[in-house]
This record gives sequence, C-alpha cells and structure tokens, in this order.
Amino acid sequence: MTQDTTKSVAIGDEVTKTFHTILVLDFGSQYSHLIVRRLREINIYAEMLPCTQKISELKFKPAGVILSGGPYSVYDDGAPHADLAIFDLNVPILGICYGMQEIAWINGKGVSRGEKREYGPANINVKSNSCPLFEGMDNSRVWMSHHDKLTELPEGFEAVATTGNTPFAGIAHKSKPIYGIQFHPEVTHTVQGKRLLSNFAVNICHAPQNWTMENFIENAIKRIRATVGPTAEAIGAVSGGVDSSVAAKLMKEAIGDRFHAIFVDNGLMRKNEAVQVKKALDDGLGINLVVVNAEDEFLDNLKGITDPEKKRKAIGYTFIHVFERVAKSIKPKDGSNIEYLLQGTLYPDVIESVSFKGPSQTIKSHHNVGGLIDNMQLKLIEPLRELFKDEVRHLGELLGLPEDLVWRHPFPGPGIGIRVLGEVTKKQVEIAREADYVFIDEIRKAGLYRQISQAFACLLPVRSVGVMGDQRMYEQVIALRAIETVDFMTADWFVFDASFLKRVASRIVNEVIGVSRVTYDITSKPPATVEWE
Ligand code: GLN
Repeated sequence: MTQDTTKSVAIGDEVTKTFHTILVLDFGSQYSHLIVRRLREINIYAEMLPCTQKISELKFKPAGVILSGGPYSVYDDGAPHADLAIFDLNVPILGICYGMQEIAWINGKGVSRGEKREYGPANINVKSNSCPLFEGMDNSRVWMSHHDKLTELPEGFEAVATTGNTPFAGIAHKSKPIYGIQFHPEVTHTVQGKRLLSNFAVNICHAPQNWTMENFIENAIKRIRATVGPTAEAIGAVSGGVDSSVAAKLMKEAIGDRFHAIFVDNGLMRKNEAVQVKKALDDGLGINLVVVNAEDEFLDNLKGITDPEKKRKAIGYTFIHVFERVAKSIKPKDGSNIEYLLQGTLYPDVIESVSFKGPSQTIKSHHNVGGLIDNMQLKLIEPLRELFKDEVRHLGELLGLPEDLVWRHPFPGPGIGIRVLGEVTKKQVEIAREADYVFIDEIRKAGLYRQISQAFACLLPVRSVGVMGDQRMYEQVIALRAIETVDFMTADWFVFDASFLKRVASRIVNEVIGVSRVTYDITSKPPATVEWE
C-alpha cells in the first residue's frame, strides 16, 4: 500500500480530547519512549512528538510538556531546539537532561562541556522540600547519562537538588512551573523516578489519572463509530495474534457486522491454530469472519525457495493477493461501501515513526507491515495506535478474549515458513509443526508458558544419524528456542530444568516422524536473533 492511495484516518487526535495529555518532545534520547511508558503506568495519557514539532500545528493543548534527553549538545551549530512557543502555552514544563540544558540555553546559555562525563548512578540531595517536583522524595539514587553540564543557573531559576558532581541536579523557576533535572527519572535505576514524574504530571500539571483501558474502550468505540459513519463498512485481516483480534473485537463492538474480518489460513500456522482462531473469533466473539484456506497457493509460491528474505517476500505477496481477492468478493449491503481497512498498528510503531532521528536525517514516515492493497483505495483505521502491547493485552481481557489468545506468544507473519530452514514443503512444515506442538504442550504442562516470552521449534535441513528399534535412522534435526525478554530488542535464552529438556527431546524423537535429533538453542540476542530463518 502506498501512503498516497490509502490515507490514514487520524482518529488518534480524538484521544487527546478525552484524556488530558502530557506532550513529550523527543530530542532523540534512547529513553524518550520510556517517559511515555512511565506516565501511562500511572494512568496519565502521554504522547511523544519530535522536538521539531511546531506548537501552532499541535492538534491539542497539552496539560504539560516534557523535553526529553538527547545525544546532542545544545551549544553546537545545528543542535535541535524546541519551538519557543512552548513557553506561551502557559503549561508546566519539565526538561530532562538535554531538555534541562535546552531550558538553560534558552534562558541565558550557561551550558558547556563538563570535565568528566557522568554515566551511571549518582545520589541526589533534595534541597528543600518546598519544590513540588520533589515532593515526598528524599535523597536517593538517580541515573545520569551526560557529558555537558549547567555552569550557572539560568535567570529566574533556583537549584532544588544537587549531587556530588553538580550543584544543579534539579532546578526550578522561582515563579513559573518550569523545571529541569540532570538525571533520568524514566529509567528504573532512578529509584524515585516514577514519583517525580507523578509529581509533575498529577500535582503540577493537574492531569487526572483517568487513562485506563476501561475508559479507553468506550472512547475507542465512539471514535470508530464517528469515523466510519452509519453505513460504510470495513475489512481487516486477523492472524490469531492478540493485536488483530483485539482490534477486530473493537470494530465488532463499534459497527457490528459492518466489519468483516478475513483470516487467511496460509498452511503455515501452528497446530490447530486455524481452527482455534475461527472458534475464538467467530463462535466466541461473534465477529463476522471469513476464513480462506490458501495453503496450496502459499506452498506453490514457496516452491524451490530457500533464501529467507525471498521466502518472506513470497509469503507476503501471496497474502496480499489472497486478501485482495477475498476482500473484493465481500459484498456489503445495498447502498454501502467498503471504505476502511483495519490495521492493528501499536504505539511502538508510531513512536518509531515520530522519534527524532537528528537534524540531518529525515524522519521515517510511518508504514505498517500489512502493506496491503494498492488499488482498493481504502482508508486506514487504526484503533490501537495509542497503545503499548501490555495495554492491548489488558484491553483484550476486558473485551472478553480468551486468555489463551490474549497471552499467546508472538508469531511471525510468515509463520512456520521461516521456521523450516531451507525449502518449505508440506512435509517439512508438518514436521516443524508437530515438534513445536510437543514443545509448547510440555511448556504449558510445566506451567512455564507465561514466564517465557516466546518459544518454538524449527526444523534444520541437515540429516544426522540415529538408531531406533535397532534400525539405523538418517533424519533431520529440530532446534528448540525459548527466550525471555522485556522488549524483544535484547533477549536471553530460558533456563529449563534438564529433566524438562529430556522429556521434550524424548517425546519429539518418538512422536515426530522424520526427526532423529533435538538441540536447544543457548544463544542470546544479540548476537543471535529470535527467529532462525
Ligand atoms: N548530550 C547531552 C550531554 O551530553 C545530553 C545528554 C542526555 O540528554 N542524556 O549532556
């Protein structure tokens, strides 16, 4: 899908009308998104925009503004600077690290390179407890990550917290609600960081703590109704994953049968998954669902391909083809049109597209992996655009999705297609699927499913000798992978009991014909990735 033919409906703007919003201006820090995370955790709605955001073009009036950290030095030519109009909004402002240096730079320029850089823990001393930003906080450990420092107090400011290294670990304007801190309250290493952000958002900005999924549901349904209107219809692909299922359920709640979910069974799903998806979405949640069995088409298009990138492309292309065909066969009721395409875009994708990548680089435009349908002229509807994954899961629970679906491990779009290394054939898929089923079954029985972030089996196209029943075997190898991770950016392998691994290996070689050997992957990410491909 190209951006010009399919315009995204900015229904996200509506959220800021219902929920008081803290605006986080991103100066490119690796931690910026965590500021939004922490605020959401205390039920405050926050949104991140690049530091270059023009305030006159803002679609909402924020309850407060936070300036994030960043890798630049405020005094450098070409360093990013905030639109000075943030000060005319007359709302509280908090600068974090670069953000504080920015406030100082604007108010007198007392910033320069420090003699030593400070990276890691420091102890702050809270000067006076009259500063509302530090209310209820005592001397505690904070996390620093900077080289530049304030050399003097900007005009009109006073110091409210210090460390051994700086007399200006926290500053506050004497008469206006403008604050700066040298440390990072958004990282968990700052012991009282959440308290500080809560002091800012709740006590200083007076933002009500009403950002809950309970409140969000009502708001989301209203927005969908307002967007789609009384007659238009919408379609969307469901995959059996939590995001598309939650999005589909919201659509069903909002517009009932005018939403058509399409589930393309590519033959590369986990065991029984296609049946379960149908049962959960159609029978269970009453979503208007079309299931298409396209296994043969996918396998045909995968014939002879061994390169993982080419496999992904072939699978993606076949998906678009099938989806489009099915979508066109859906005939809405008289007088209405299919106008909208649902996508389960989440906030991390949005953050990725709005985060500030530096003065010389263009900011990446947003695109969702769906990449669908060039010529159908559909408008995108993305009701989960504001949500983080754990918020989506919570929403799923509230909407009555089965627990199994809400907590399902992530599964790549191309499915088992990339877990069969080498050529993908029906037989190879079958072997990988059966082995995966045994592994997951044992994980569930051991009560480990929720502790593990993702687990699966993949099939290696190498042969290895074994003996079974006195007969020589020369069969393939299964590699098991199970990881623990918070954000999937880095991951570690899960430590199973030896007895567990023994049980799984024994079941796989006994139950899955075509496998003579089982290995367990003990590589972390990085350097390895989660999937083998
Ligand atoms: N680049 C600035 C410095 O070195 C700000 C760092 C930051 O915001 N973490 O001090």
